[in-house]
Amino acid sequence: MEGVVIARGRDGAPEVVVLGFVPADERRIAFNLAFGITLAVTGVAESVGGRAYSTGLYFASKAGQILGEARRQRLEDFRRSVDPDRRFNPGKVIDPRLVARLIGIAGPFTPLVRLMTNRLKPLIGERFDHERNPTGSGTQLGEDRVRGIPADVAWYAYACSQCGYCVNECDQFYGRGWESQSPRGKWFWLREYVEGRVDWSKKMVDSFLVCTTCELCNHRCSSALPIEPSWMKLRGLIVTEEDKGTIPPFEMMAAALDAQGDIWAGYRDDREDWFPQDLRDRHGPGTRANAIYFAGCTASYVEHDIGIASVRLLDAAGVDFGYLGQTEQCCGTPMLCSGKWELFERVMLENIDAVKSAGADTVICSCPACDMMWRQYYPRWAERLGIDYRIKVKHYSEVVVERIASGEFSFPERPDGKRTRLTFHDSCHIGRASGIYEPPRALIRALPGVELVEMAHSREEAHCCGSVLSLIGEPPVAVDLGKIRLDEAVEAGAEKLLALCPCCEFQFRVTAEKKAIGLEIQDLAHLAAEQLGYDLPDPHPEVRRQWAVFEGMIELMTPEGFAALMQDMFPEMIDAMPWGMGRMMRAMARVPGGLGAMKPLFPMLFPRLLPAMMPRLMPEVVARVKQRIAMPDYMAEQMPDLMPQVMDSLMPKMLGDVVPLVSQPLVDHLHASVGRHT
Ligand code: SF4
Ligand code: SF4
Repeated sequence: MEGVVIARGRDGAPEVVVLGFVPADERRIAFNLAFGITLAVTGVAESVGGRAYSTGLYFASKAGQILGEARRQRLEDFRRSVDPDRRFNPGKVIDPRLVARLIGIAGPFTPLVRLMTNRLKPLIGERFDHERNPTGSGTQLGEDRVRGIPADVAWYAYACSQCGYCVNECDQFYGRGWESQSPRGKWFWLREYVEGRVDWSKKMVDSFLVCTTCELCNHRCSSALPIEPSWMKLRGLIVTEEDKGTIPPFEMMAAALDAQGDIWAGYRDDREDWFPQDLRDRHGPGTRANAIYFAGCTASYVEHDIGIASVRLLDAAGVDFGYLGQTEQCCGTPMLCSGKWELFERVMLENIDAVKSAGADTVICSCPACDMMWRQYYPRWAERLGIDYRIKVKHYSEVVVERIASGEFSFPERPDGKRTRLTFHDSCHIGRASGIYEPPRALIRALPGVELVEMAHSREEAHCCGSVLSLIGEPPVAVDLGKIRLDEAVEAGAEKLLALCPCCEFQFRVTAEKKAIGLEIQDLAHLAAEQLGYDLPDPHPEVRRQWAVFEGMIELMTPEGFAALMQDMFPEMIDAMPWGMGRMMRAMARVPGGLGAMKPLFPMLFPRLLPAMMPRLMPEVVARVKQRIAMPDYMAEQMPDLMPQVMDSLMPKMLGDVVPLVSQPLVDHLHASVGRHT
């Protein structure tokens, strides 16, 4: 329930408008009975001189009271003059018919209706129990699924009041502008799906996958529906269970993670290279301590400064900690968000095992996504799998700020006496996900020579940077989203934007470059370690190099990208066709109208030919990919192992979109190769 105070109400005096939302499933009888609560609230308002806010269908019999008798009469006169047969708005506004009359006489029965409504309470406001049911198998409402949709998610779809509070600040929506991309639009689509009027399409699968998991919608929803957790639940359903395919570049990350334990296709042997030599004896791989610093993939392979700065900071603050080194693996966030839950579960179990084997009971994270896994997701999955978890999680800012508060640690004054005005971006994955807003701010305030200014949206209101799911799903949308946040930082008068998350920082660096925004972007630990006198590597060149690879892969892994790759390889493709099909196509090219007759068969033919062609073509595919995308040597070396896995996962799902793009070019190529014109 929410209220708005109107300074000058209907009669010029102040009024309060109370708006109530009663989450209830439209498909159930309880939905109608839930209306009894509305009548009860209206009755309370009337008892103190109030009224229903508007007439509509239900309160048309109270039009005089709600609108004022004079206004009702004016409307009545106007209607009589333009609509004497009372055709427009039948039964509404000033035209009470059966429903309004029943509501009109329901007053004395309201206590009875309320009694019934209250008895039905277990269904009204029923919630998905995340603690007991992290993966979404089974629900409080029973194990039933509706057209494959878990019963609780279907319930929420029907409980959504379609009020639209969640729409405007959903970054998936404001980055694209389509209602189907907003929470309200997706609930509406789910109702249509449940009722069999629409079916899954690639577009709709993607619309659930590209949600950035920012969780702002949960905070905004007037009916307190668990929106983001519902999309998360559907991710596992549509990708892991129903194999509808994820966002293609995640297949490359999954193959790399499967092989080497990280999403950047780095070698496992190189994972710990960033760790400072002089700290290895005290904190390096193999040392035992109660707490483990968990660096995560991006700090380990791309933004080394974050890992170095974090361990420098923890060491300077006198924290006893160790580091897993090569036994650390990706925390699994990308796999969870892309619906690849089998791989997520495997790396989660291996990470838990690695921490326990190191004798630790606490994990200290720098990356908010890693923090979210260790703090929120691992314990729930562990409980479901019957694993004894008992691992505490802290962000380094919490640990360092505790030391500052106890007087055990402080930063030295700046010798140059310089002051910097900066702002801080709350990462969704540690802010709204875990409520960690103050420790990073306390750390910033402890830095001498720093002035912290807040952006227009901060803490639980903070807008998402637009990273990962948008950046990988639709890069142009991601930089539009990033620009909105960077503009806020500029408007706040900041010289520098501090990020806590390697992915937010990566996204902001890419955005600043693409949109030519001259704002300095830095990691918080990096800044803090600099204040301690450390000179840290600039992550920008590596971010740029890695982004170029990603961008190339994203472009390649589209129907258009694969079609272009195939067109480059038509001679090799034709040679690789099994059952003499290549020879037959070349022969048909000599027959007038031959290929024209064959072309309609391509959509049926290619899915059958491809499994036999792929192994023969793969060396050529790998060579062409390396030619197209400038990648580091270690990545190029792994392509012969990674590419077949990626193609095996993607091609069966994408071929339907690729074949129409290559059919005519293939016919043209065959004609040209035998000297005929199409
Ligand atoms: S989590 Fe964020 S991006 Fe996803 S639906 Fe909610 S508001 Fe939109
Ligand atoms: S805020 Fe969005 S999800 Fe919540 S009830 Fe309104 S339209 Fe539905």
